[in-house]
Parts: sequence; C-alpha cells; structure tokens
Amino acid sequence: MHELSLCLSMAELIEQQARQHNAQRVTKVWLEIGALACIEEQALRFSFSSAVRGTLAENSELLLSQLPAKAWCWDCGLSVEINRHATPCPHCGGCRLDIASGDSLRIRQLEIE
Ligand SMILES: [Zn+2]
Repeated sequence: MHELSLCLSMAELIEQQARQHNAQRVTKVWLEIGALACIEEQALRFSFSSAVRGTLAENSELLLSQLPAKAWCWDCGLSVEINRHATPCPHCGGCRLDIASGDSLRIRQLEIE
C-alpha cells in the first residue's frame, strides 16, 4: 500500500500548482500511471480522495491513463516497451532488461477554476 504516500505528495504538488495559478479549486486531475508502477486503481482512487480532502482539489475528478514502460535490453541493445515486470524482451526474448521508465506515477494535467 504505497498509494497513500504517493497521493499525499501528489496532493501537495497539485495544491502548489493550483495556488500558482490563483485557482479557486481544482476540478479535474489527469494522472499517468506507469505500467510497472504496481498501482491498484481502487486503492489509488480511495487514497487520492482522502489525500486531497481539505485542499483545493477536494472532490476533483480523477482521470487515469496507463503508460507502457520502457526498458533497455542488454542482449539486443534496443529500447523496448514492456507492460509488466519479469517479461522478456519483445525483440529477442532476452531477459536482461533494465527498466528505464514506467515505474512511477505522474500528474499530466490539471483543470482549474
Ligand atoms: Zn532484446
């Protein structure tokens, strides 16, 4: 359950951004979830709504999109897209992959009023 700590730091970021733009409130939040972030959507939504309670983003709508993860394959020397952990390289079937991105969560966009 790391969703709550992620959401708490996100809530802080959102609040900062909203205040910088003199927003009255935040109405929508778009998040991108890396395919390897091990985020459970239910847990994320629940944690988000409690993390933003009392902030400008209280009751905002949460929109989620998933990003494929990128990895570097040591066997064929290509940068490849993968969708889960412990999956072989889609090009050569090799297993020596270094995850380059896609194991995190980030804020893509905010809608403010
Ligand atoms: Zn490969």
